[in-house]
Amino acid sequence: MPRAPRTSHQVIVIGAGVAGMAAATEAARCGLKTALFDDGLLGGLITNVGAVHGHPGLNQTTGADLVNTMLGEALEAEVDYQPGAVTELVALNDYWSLPGNGVTARRVILATGAGLRTLGVPGEAQLTGRGVSQCAFCDGGLYRGKDVAVVGGGDGAFQEALHLAQLCANVTMILRGRKPRARPTFVRAAADLGNMHFRWLTEVREIVGDEGVDAVRLFEQDGDGEEMLPIAAIFPFIGLVPRTALAPAHAERDNEGGLIVDADMQTDQPGLYAIGAARAGHGGQVAHAIADAKRAAQGAWRSI
Ligand SMILES: Cc1cc2nc3c(=O)[nH]c(=O)nc-3n(C[C@H](O)[C@H](O)[C@H](O)COP(=O)(O)OP(=O)(O)OC[C@H]3O[C@@H](n4cnc5c(N)ncnc54)[C@H](O)[C@@H]3O)c2cc1C
Repeated sequence: MPRAPRTSHQVIVIGAGVAGMAAATEAARCGLKTALFDDGLLGGLITNVGAVHGHPGLNQTTGADLVNTMLGEALEAEVDYQPGAVTELVALNDYWSLPGNGVTARRVILATGAGLRTLGVPGEAQLTGRGVSQCAFCDGGLYRGKDVAVVGGGDGAFQEALHLAQLCANVTMILRGRKPRARPTFVRAAADLGNMHFRWLTEVREIVGDEGVDAVRLFEQDGDGEEMLPIAAIFPFIGLVPRTALAPAHAERDNEGGLIVDADMQTDQPGLYAIGAARAGHGGQVAHAIADAKRAAQGAWRSI
């Protein structure tokens, strides 16, 4: 009878956003030797959020504080945290290997999250960092007293726009649809502000400028065609693209690339779990990512 492989860890978690940190902590608390890897921005998407909304017990906590607390919990649970990108994930007989990181485990939890979708219009790439930004909390102060635009109609877009409205002269929200997807509390708060303006059924066609952003070329679906809106900066928040390239190419994914999972968050690849923004059907909030994490870690623990 073949002997079970001797792996360096029982569980490896890839990605230390809220999902990955919560999964690693839970796995370690279940008594599993757990490694956690992250490629740079520890904490992921929530790190730069000025006030975390909608999470029970965390009224107005900053994303950075939440990340610090969660990392502290992971280290206290004796998670083996190893900063560094994971570049390769290989399935062997009944375990997984990360050849570039020198570790192996029977269970891998993929918590690599998502990137912010970009507009893909002319001018965007050239002006990124010079007026095109996806972090109002990092860059909003640069445009104090100026006119800016936010693209998108979800919670993230409204949240960032509300922050910008405290700093900037005018904030124009550009939305492709007739109504926003964001929570009504955000929408009401935005509608109550005199310096927030809304352009419904409108698409961005081009971002115009040389040294920085000067204007945005808009197309209004019900209007008379294109028009220029002068602005000093534009902040696109139009959704997420799951980062799942590490999973085997044949693993089942949805149209966006998110990995399809069962009730324990296991993919169709035995021993490989996917949680948070990396999986198909992520609920969109920190609480959803943490719930996924607990399920995956406990599923891994029960199955080992
Ligand atoms: C603007 C904005 C505002 C938001 N505000 C709120 C809010 O107020 N309340 C709320 O509940 N939710 C909010 N959210 C949603 C919340 O941020 C996400 O649901 C949550 O952060 C997803 O966490 P995650 O761990 O799944 O992914 P991510 O946060 O994307 O983390 C993934 C991590 O994996 C790492 N990684 C990726 N690839 C690799 C690799 N190959 N090797 C090693 N590491 C890797 C990344 O560096 C990152 O640290 C907001 C989102 C946005 C965009």
